[in-house]
Amino acid sequence: MSNPAQTAERELARTKDLLASHARMHELIARAAPLEDVLTELVTGIERYDGSVMPCAVLLDPESNTLHPGAGPSLPPEYVAAIDGVVIGPDVGSCGAAAWSGRMTITEDMEEDPKWAPILPLTRTANLRHCWSNPIKAPDGEVLGTLALYGPEPRSPQPEHLVLLEDGARVAGIAIERHRAMQRLVHDATHDALTGLLNRRTIFQLVESALEERAADSDLAVIFVDLDGLKQLNDTLGHDRTDELIGAVGARLAAAVREDDVVGRFGGDEFIVLARGVKDAEEAAEIGARLLDAISNPLEDVTVTASIGIAVVSGPGAPDAREAIRQADSAMYDAKRSGRDRVCFFGEAANARTGRRVTMTTQIRGAAARGEMHLVFQPLFEIDGGDLLGVEALLRWSHPELGDVSPGEFIPLAEETGAIVPLGAWVLRESCETIAALAAETGRSLELSVNVSAKQLAEPGFAGVVRKTLADTGFPVSDLILEITETAFLSADAATDRTLHDLKALGVRIVLDDFGTGYSSLSWLKRHPLDAIKVDRSFVSGLPEERGDSAIVKAVIGMARAFGRTVTAEGVETESQLQALRDLGCDHAQGFLLGRPVPVGALRDGLRREAA
Ligand code: C2E
Ligand code: CA
Ligand code: CA
Repeated sequence: MSNPAQTAERELARTKDLLASHARMHELIARAAPLEDVLTELVTGIERYDGSVMPCAVLLDPESNTLHPGAGPSLPPEYVAAIDGVVIGPDVGSCGAAAWSGRMTITEDMEEDPKWAPILPLTRTANLRHCWSNPIKAPDGEVLGTLALYGPEPRSPQPEHLVLLEDGARVAGIAIERHRAMQRLVHDATHDALTGLLNRRTIFQLVESALEERAADSDLAVIFVDLDGLKQLNDTLGHDRTDELIGAVGARLAAAVREDDVVGRFGGDEFIVLARGVKDAEEAAEIGARLLDAISNPLEDVTVTASIGIAVVSGPGAPDAREAIRQADSAMYDAKRSGRDRVCFFGEAANARTGRRVTMTTQIRGAAARGEMHLVFQPLFEIDGGDLLGVEALLRWSHPELGDVSPGEFIPLAEETGAIVPLGAWVLRESCETIAALAAETGRSLELSVNVSAKQLAEPGFAGVVRKTLADTGFPVSDLILEITETAFLSADAATDRTLHDLKALGVRIVLDDFGTGYSSLSWLKRHPLDAIKVDRSFVSGLPEERGDSAIVKAVIGMARAFGRTVTAEGVETESQLQALRDLGCDHAQGFLLGRPVPVGALRDGLRREAA
């Protein structure tokens, strides 16, 4: 037995050590040491004071209401890892419950406490039986985390344990609060208050370090974005709404860039996007086009556009940050000068080098408004009597420098950048107007088939766009057919399914285009609201010689019949193909043999001849 004097001395030494530990913690807090260091000092100090408990500090993430380990050096690492990310709740262990209720939560024996039942296998492996947990709080009462004492035997806390938990939680509270304040300071010093994006100084520094760290064999793009017509916006909207708009544009830019790209607000209505590791100017152009698209999506009732300048840094001997940004800025002015709402590259050579794809990518947007797009119409016929049923609208682009560009080439690009959404809306409106006017003129109404991209279908407002277009143009809904490619259908999600049903409810017919290229299953065909199927040209071209093709067309027709759908064959080029399709029981036909895509004028002449 030790004598009372020795015991008292030991007690005194323990207490002194605990006090020293607290002093160290306060010093760490004052020096703004990492939070982890403060919490580690806290729990090791407690452990030295009382070796019979294993302390653990966990932090509460207020956004997700989840717990994350702060310090618990004596607990088994697997246990600590397992509680990382636990969502707090009244029945979630002692810490989950303490954080949830804001009150000290004592579990004397986990085996007897329903709050622990779900994770008993874990606590048994970790050899834990008791857990006393105290919430760590801010002065205003907000729970910031918990401090808990674990042990291997069932046990109730002694008064001194409660004191340890109370004192410890108080210091931890100060430490966490300080830490958060520091994080806020750092955030505020590096971010722009209006948009929440990186501020001018920080984006500049990032460009600087990206240029320094860039490997000679990798490209990097500095993209300068400047809103068009800010002054007019300010005049019409007022400063507050313009600020709101700049904030919204910032959010759209941040959402539109790739994961590794960073966006900063460079000043007023100027933004800088730093794209590291772009492959070439083409990829940079794609990013630029995507940004234009993101910005110009109507923000409430105002539409904004931007001019974008890109400086691509490649090869050895890079410019410094100031120069790279100057280059992007000067390219942005070229974009302004050549008509706004577009992307330009720095350096004549760069602009020339970027080539066809880049030119198309960056110029599809606005091409319809510039009058470069027009429609042609290809007739569709009844296969038996040969009656004209209607026409399919097909898009044509006459580019001032590139000449005529095929939709097979530019539609995929427009889909990549999202430009297909406004462009497709233009096609719908233009074709409805044209065919409605033609019907009024000739007294002959025609069915109109319009190609619709998967991107359009995925837009939640698409059915509304169709409804409004029909109302505005006076085109009868019963004559409208939307053609959707099979591959688009295969990637359909819930939003697309909704749109399809809304379209059906409107009374629009839907055709599955390019059938046979996307491997639709029977059950899938049955589930979706399709009116007709268009057999892909590749199968028609093999008729009648190729056995396989005729077997496929036959199977498709059988399947479509079984579900009560109409079958159209496209790409019919020869009489023998037509005859084969007739024999197989196809309903409608389309192809160069029967009629090529023609401008509306030629279509009108044809109808007049038919009437005469
Ligand atoms: P698609 O929807 O399968 O359109 C049929 C294509 O086949 C058209 O090519 C048409 O000119 C061509 N064609 C028609 N009959 C024959 C024939 O007998 N023989 C051959 N060899 N070809 C024939 P086009 O106009 O070049 O369009 C290509 C594709 O571009 C279209 O394929 C469609 O997927 C897309 N496209 C065209 N306009 C639009 C549009 O406004 N919106 C969307 N989203 N896509 C469009
Ligand atoms: Ca089509
Ligand atoms: Ca087709």
